Amino acid sequence: MTEVIGHFINGERVEGKSGRFADVYNPATGEVQAKVALATKDELDAAVAAAAKAQPAWAAQNPQKRARVMMKFVSLLNRDMDKLAEKLSSEHGKTFVDAKGDVQRGLEVIEVCCGAPHMLKGEFTDSAGPGIDMYSMRQALGVVAGITPFNFPAMIPLWKLGPALVCGNAMIMKPSERDPSVPMMLAELLKEAGLPDGILQVVNGDKESVDAILDNDTIQAVGFVGSTPIAHYIYHRAAENGKRAQCFGGAKNHMIIMPDADLDQAADALVGAGFGAAGERCMAISVAVPVGEETADKLIEKLVPRIEKLKVGPYTAGDDVDYGPVVTAAAKENILRLVETGVEQGAELVVDGRDFSLQGYENGFFVGPHLFDKVTTDMDIYKTEIFGPVLSCVRAKTYEEAIGHAMDHEYGNGTAIFTRDGDTARDFANRINIGMVGINVPIPVPLAYHTFGGWKKSGFGDLNQHGPDAFKFYTRTKTVTSRWPSGIKEGGEFSIPVME
Ligand code: NAD
Repeated sequence: MTEVIGHFINGERVEGKSGRFADVYNPATGEVQAKVALATKDELDAAVAAAAKAQPAWAAQNPQKRARVMMKFVSLLNRDMDKLAEKLSSEHGKTFVDAKGDVQRGLEVIEVCCGAPHMLKGEFTDSAGPGIDMYSMRQALGVVAGITPFNFPAMIPLWKLGPALVCGNAMIMKPSERDPSVPMMLAELLKEAGLPDGILQVVNGDKESVDAILDNDTIQAVGFVGSTPIAHYIYHRAAENGKRAQCFGGAKNHMIIMPDADLDQAADALVGAGFGAAGERCMAISVAVPVGEETADKLIEKLVPRIEKLKVGPYTAGDDVDYGPVVTAAAKENILRLVETGVEQGAELVVDGRDFSLQGYENGFFVGPHLFDKVTTDMDIYKTEIFGPVLSCVRAKTYEEAIGHAMDHEYGNGTAIFTRDGDTARDFANRINIGMVGINVPIPVPLAYHTFGGWKKSGFGDLNQHGPDAFKFYTRTKTVTSRWPSGIKEGGEFSIPVME
């Protein structure tokens, strides 16, 4: 029997009422392994109403008590790491070790949330005027929402729910309908850690429930991660409805390889960053920009054997596999369609993965690795986020031309430069108009105590995810000016007070 996934409301799993479901696949076999309920507006509104009822008592607890729930949650995540990663791999397709990384990078944000009492301290000015003190406090917003993508089904929900909850909010979590099981498991673990019922409501769904979130007057803030058109839509509609919104979108991350770089190191980095998780990472490197013809020729020479050696397979095959299938048949079709446009528009397909098929897994959504050389900036494979195992090489004559490509692209999530020259690296880091920069580091995902966020069409709204920004996003500041007239310490007043 196919498993049916409902919602997690008021501390327990409940069935969906809409009668509408989405298929959840095992991408390695192509089989439907579960069906997930798609919530109606009424179901969403009821979940919000219950959350709003539960939230004031949670916000009234002292922050140390809320942090203790996070501490327990960290130990439960460690306890169930393998179980979570196994489920994650089976719905997403990424390798088991990569799935553990997905949980781990989320868990690290929960570790930072254990320090919430410190992060939530306000500011204080003693004697701002005669007998006047001024102080600010950070207060929870109330009910907030998180809407998350398929590609990190543990990490991104954890990035959202950890800071939101520890700040004293209740959260409506709307995970991707393609891999909803791990967020449901996270909600169960939080209950076990001591989170009161109703404070985290997992509502599964599609556009209907997202629109219901955007139109619900009780929800104060929306944290979104996904593709750029949807990020823009959510930012727009949330803002129109008076909500705070941070909406992170797609990417096309460039890695510049200078002539003085260690090319073996650069080639290894490119293969990992370009093909890990089948290229389904917002921080994947999808464009290599070698500077100079000689650098480009040597780089391609080093890349080809490395890419041809990649092992593609199901997560069940163990550590031997470099990357797994993509998430759906539609994703596979879209990637292969874009590869065809690359060939038609004149790029050189140096490694051709179009005929890739895995024996015993012919119905799985596997895509072989592709390497394009001599890609130009007017081609669809350059302009579009492919989100698959396809690396494009754009040759640049000079450093200025290379940095110009990265700066002119509409996306601005991550970028990297490989060089041995500190002056070039420094110039690159200073001038580039992209949110996250790696210097000889291909995937510069900031650690949990720094913040994560892209620029240009990779991010709408202000304040980044995790780090200090997250505590600001999920709270609002209240500033109090307080004046105490001289009191009983001056002695009693016996005459009637009169205006002077
Ligand atoms: P997606 O935009 O299709 O879906 C994201 C969320 O939006 C899901 O919860 C989905 O149910 C919802 N959604 C989808 N269509 C909608 C619609 N028409 N109206 C309202 N809601 C809708 O993204 P995805 O395919 O799940 O994830 C991949 C994308 O996410 C890539 O573009 C990737 O670069 C991006 N991403 C960005 C970051 C970042 O931090 N910038 C991180 C991870 C992924």
